[in-house]
Amino acid sequence: MGKPTGFMEYERQVATDRAPELRVLDWNEFHEHMPVDALQEQGARCMDCGVPFCHTGEMIGGMAAGCPIHNLIPEWNDLVYRGHWHEALDRLHKTNNFPEFTGRVCPAPCEGSCVLGIIEPAVTIKSIECAIVDRGFEEGWIVPQPPQERTGKTIAVVGSGPAGLSAAAQLNKAGHTVTVYERDDRIGGLLMYGIPNMKLDKEIVQRRVDLLKAEGVQFVVNCAIGKDLPADKLKNDFDAVVLCTGATRPRDLPIPGRELEGIHLAMDFLRPNTRSLLDSKHEDGKYISAKDKHVIVIGGGDTGTDCIGTSLRHGCKTLTNFEIVPEPPAERAANNPWPQWPKIFRVDYGHEEAADRYGADPRVFEIETVEFIGDENGHVKALKTTEVDWSKPVPNGPPFSRVEGSEKIFEADLVLLALGFLGPESPVAEQLGVTCDGRSNYQAEHGTFTTNVDGVFAAGDCRRGQSLVVWAINEGRAVARECDRYLMGSSNLP
Ligand SMILES: Cc1cc2nc3c(=O)[nH]c(=O)nc-3n(C[C@H](O)[C@H](O)[C@H](O)COP(=O)(O)OP(=O)(O)OC[C@H]3O[C@@H](n4cnc5c(N)ncnc54)[C@H](O)[C@@H]3O)c2cc1C
Ligand code: SF4
Repeated sequence: MGKPTGFMEYERQVATDRAPELRVLDWNEFHEHMPVDALQEQGARCMDCGVPFCHTGEMIGGMAAGCPIHNLIPEWNDLVYRGHWHEALDRLHKTNNFPEFTGRVCPAPCEGSCVLGIIEPAVTIKSIECAIVDRGFEEGWIVPQPPQERTGKTIAVVGSGPAGLSAAAQLNKAGHTVTVYERDDRIGGLLMYGIPNMKLDKEIVQRRVDLLKAEGVQFVVNCAIGKDLPADKLKNDFDAVVLCTGATRPRDLPIPGRELEGIHLAMDFLRPNTRSLLDSKHEDGKYISAKDKHVIVIGGGDTGTDCIGTSLRHGCKTLTNFEIVPEPPAERAANNPWPQWPKIFRVDYGHEEAADRYGADPRVFEIETVEFIGDENGHVKALKTTEVDWSKPVPNGPPFSRVEGSEKIFEADLVLLALGFLGPESPVAEQLGVTCDGRSNYQAEHGTFTTNVDGVFAAGDCRRGQSLVVWAINEGRAVARECDRYLMGSSNLP
């Protein structure tokens, strides 16, 4: 620990974002870096705990407490405090293939479990992580490191999200010849076409993909396994197959009026928006525009927030966000103690931007949409809602009841459904004979990642259900180790 009294001397500071009124005018990242001396000071707040809960990654209360990839946080906090940035980068890369992604988009369960957080605001772990890796790129310290020798074993990875990319990176490091198949036209999965540019610049995703290419990973785009290429062909042509196809089946809202025009699944809004931005800076018009529309986003989480941020950048007229759940408390509730992930009211970038433009947070809690109302042209014009009461569950029904007489009508001509995802699509599993679990995910235990089909592994959201980038990296690294063990009899991969 660089400075034993650092946590008493310095207050927590985080990197500021660009001002909401300015950042909604463009699609550039809203993050800004802290000055180096401020970062070093923040590193000094780390107490180098004997039991550093920040890096445990244990599941407590259904959520990760601490970092799921066990980042060596106290070590790099100390190295940053001392100004040893290159060494800090080496320590960071030991556990995380892509800190430039997690440093930008991770909700930072590490900070929620930081021991200092019991008595003071937690150590600024995420900003330090991001600064270390960004500096590594700026200084030219991050260069391709192809393996010295090849094993002659071949592996097909299906899906190029963070799970597929980290699996490919690790398997390539072990000397195997890896081909990643992606049905989209660009590599990256939800890093590329889910999370919008202002949160994670696509050049940053492409920069890492280029590095992997230079290290020898082969990428095939526009190739849907199970459609363009039969899944069992992979089984015949490769020594092992790793499925990382994500949880891409969206949850819909089958209520009266769902067939009306102007109601879209979130990914049908977000994906073309980023593609059009990258292809033509939106000049091709191949995206659903929220310009001058009354937008209602149904559902919260990262997807809902990204729909908000995207609609604001299009120039929507009004923006409302419905959440069926109750508003979380401002502070941890008694049944949500440290080191659990704090389930508290958070203001994400989209909420902040909407509040800045319209003067109030866009979220309405404990509200359920019961009907979409259309105009004479078959286009949505309003939503009928009712309030819900979570203290009165319906016996043998939903865990809440509708509040009588609370019906309201909200004007809307663009509705975005951000209601989560229901597991992977099925053709790949069907063609390979892979069984699915009760939640329709590919069945494979965390730890072994083996499916019921010999030589076929599964990892990431397609195995665990919709989750986080950091969990996808956890699973991608771990499946690589198990796949390496399967091919070679033992593995040196971490
Ligand atoms: C809008 C949105 C925003 C999010 N924001 C955040 C965030 O801020 N922070 C965070 O931590 N997490 C976030 N998440 C969750 C996170 O992105 C996912 O948990 C993570 O990307 C899962 O990684 P994955 O590699 O398992 O799957 P994915 O990233 O979904 O990648 C799967 C890939 O497989 C491809 N594929 C599927 N089937 C086939 C096939 N048959 N043949 C070839 N390719 C195929 C898909 O095209 C896709 O590219 C967000 C999710 C969404 C939807
Ligand atoms: S728990 Fe917090 S204070 Fe302790 S080692 Fe981790 S980052 Fe430092």
